[in-house]
Amino acid sequence: MTSLIDLHSHSIVSDGLLTPAELVAHAASKGIRVLALTDHDDVAGLTEAEAAAAQHGITLVSGVEISVTWRRRTLHIVGLKIDPQSPSLVDGLAQIRAGRHIRAQGMAASLDKAGISGSLEGAYAYARQGIISRTHFAQYLVAQGHAPDTRSVFRKFLVKGKPGYFEYSWADLEEAVGWILESGGVPVLAHPGRYDLGRTNMLLLLEEFRALGGVAIEVVTGSHTTDQYREFARLAHQFSLKASLGSDYHGPGHSYLDMGRLPALPADCVPVWQDWPEAVV
Ligand code: AMP
Ligand code: MN
Ligand code: MN
Ligand code: MN
Repeated sequence: MTSLIDLHSHSIVSDGLLTPAELVAHAASKGIRVLALTDHDDVAGLTEAEAAAAQHGITLVSGVEISVTWRRRTLHIVGLKIDPQSPSLVDGLAQIRAGRHIRAQGMAASLDKAGISGSLEGAYAYARQGIISRTHFAQYLVAQGHAPDTRSVFRKFLVKGKPGYFEYSWADLEEAVGWILESGGVPVLAHPGRYDLGRTNMLLLLEEFRALGGVAIEVVTGSHTTDQYREFARLAHQFSLKASLGSDYHGPGHSYLDMGRLPALPADCVPVWQDWPEAVV
């Protein structure tokens, strides 16, 4: 049985390929009934997505995916049911977006040194509406023939030790969780299986996230294996965290998985939407 709920997706406001309205239409066409738009560090797509959801008769959950640095590693914290006008959230996200411009200059300088010119303007040309991200640099590098697709870009460029990498400190875990809580939202640790943490640090992270007010972790996501569904269902249970589910869809050809393809949560999970009246499907 596939899930009718999808609580993680991206539009052109961050590094997705579809407009918020196109994304909602796509979700509806794939049978999704409850969709969260969770653009990286920006909430600018939510108004358009909300209107489209009303047209298609599906429920939109207001979301965001916040970039965080924890012990010198990048983590992503999803906020669900946020108030996009909450002042501390608005200010915090604006700071992160300002930092993205500085980081983009550092990335471009590093690519220049490696003999790849024009990447700053090139990447911004792909950032159609909102934040500038590594995905936009990856699109430029593919267009210039430096790699066959964006996934292979991340093996040769833009990661630690490779051209185009620029070390940057995002928000603290405490700040990101705090902004989400203050906005009335639900903090969710995104795709825990993607962080190269090791067992000890994963346990420390879950402990700290929970202590700060974290509520759920993504158990079923486009980038987890079936074994990871079970592994993170167990960890959620161990830390009394609820479970979330989302495709992390970025658009056709740019996603781990299309919408409407994720399995339901393992039976022993407490769904993060358990007590949400809007998520009865
Ligand atoms: P940024 O937040 O600017 O560091 O960009 C991170 C984004 O790059 C992620 O949200 C993904 O969409 C994309 N990304 C990161 N690693 C990979 C990868 N290995 N393959 C494809 N896309 C990736
Ligand atoms: Mn992304
Ligand atoms: Mn992410
Ligand atoms: Mn994402």
